[in-house]
Amino acid sequence: MSENPHEAVDQLFKKNQSTEVISRLNHGENIQDIINTEFNPEQNFSPEEIECSDGRCPHHGKEISVAGSGILLSEEEFDMMMKKYPDIKVITTHADCGAGKLAFANAQKNETVPPGITTAEEFAADWAKKMAAKYNLSYRHIGVDEFVAPYHHEQGIMVDTTGKIHQKMVNGMSNMFASHTASFAHPDNVIAEVQVLTNIGLGDHGLGQRITDEKPFYIMVACADTQKAEQMHEAFSTALKDHGDNVQIKTFVVPN
Ligand SMILES: [Zn+2]
Repeated sequence: MSENPHEAVDQLFKKNQSTEVISRLNHGENIQDIINTEFNPEQNFSPEEIECSDGRCPHHGKEISVAGSGILLSEEEFDMMMKKYPDIKVITTHADCGAGKLAFANAQKNETVPPGITTAEEFAADWAKKMAAKYNLSYRHIGVDEFVAPYHHEQGIMVDTTGKIHQKMVNGMSNMFASHTASFAHPDNVIAEVQVLTNIGLGDHGLGQRITDEKPFYIMVACADTQKAEQMHEAFSTALKDHGDNVQIKTFVVPN
């Protein structure tokens, strides 16, 4: 990889563009047709870990992904997540977490930062250790050395509303943000999370101006049926309309 972050990100973007899924979407192919041919149910989904949505984290297929591992959720929603995924044994935090920074900024504003905590990373670790104690989980920090690449280069967000799919189950998938939040949380929280992730993806720390209407940022939404797919398409289109055609919503029904 190049020493120059710009060139390195250009290369990562190029790699995304050459994946089966992104190149077919860019050519106007229907996402359902792509999923139907690339879906690999042998990579079954049995999550044991909570990880951030960040595309730099190694999404290996054994985790659910939620922004900041759930640090932006209410206690009630965190509880809903644990009920939905009873086999979770580990909670993680990671280096340079955008959601962790946001949660820390919110806590500073509300004057709820625990004594002795001075950085976003300490704040997130303290929070995750408390959740680990509450739910009898182990805690692990993902360092930069475990990242798939040092720079953000997500080509979109893989949103799962079903609790049944992981991006590893789609062959030829690009680097993406991953989110299972829609499988357990209130719709408003799902929209807020997708907005946060989209802003990172389109910002200076993400692919930024490389994203165009011809090479857009894709919100891929896995649904259980066509009614849910229509509903999610409507909700995300409305929430993200300011981005125009640079952000495209692609809903699909998970094959049986
Ligand atoms: Zn993160």
